[in-house]
Amino acid sequence: MSQTGHIINWPSRIRATGLRSTRQRVATLESLAGRPHATADELLNQVRHALPAITIQSIYTVVQSLVDVGLVRKLEFGPTAARFEIQHFDNHHHVHCRLCGRIEDVACQHGSAPCMTPVETHGMVIDTADVVYHGTCTDCLDALDAPDGDTHVSV
Ligand SMILES: [Zn+2]
Ligand SMILES: [Zn+2]
Ligand SMILES: [Zn+2]
Repeated sequence: MSQTGHIINWPSRIRATGLRSTRQRVATLESLAGRPHATADELLNQVRHALPAITIQSIYTVVQSLVDVGLVRKLEFGPTAARFEIQHFDNHHHVHCRLCGRIEDVACQHGSAPCMTPVETHGMVIDTADVVYHGTCTDCLDALDAPDGDTHVSV
């Protein structure tokens, strides 16, 4: 799932897609490699350590360019902010808390892609099935159960 401890040559990965390797793109990929499922705001806070002048608009532009070439995967499962991760093509799936937007990785139970086949393919050759398990995380369940009703979660 994640490649922690694995040093990746991001500039050459970026150039292999035909994009120019910029400090913004490298910093964004390094940040995502260390912290998968980050929102654009979280990315901004991380990338700012290396590039203090970067703006949220630049983060959106940079991360979208990486999504467009397939280096980054955009996860948008509900009304909460989209999250980003390095595209590993490892067929992993996600659990998603509908209330706070938290996303975690889960291994595919089936093992190989596509792990499901549709009833009707409409003539398409299917290679992947994205599985998202939606629910409520324990933090959000605890907040809902709080006896004094002091919760920052609205449903
Ligand atoms: Zn939650
Ligand atoms: Zn993931
Ligand atoms: Zn699967």
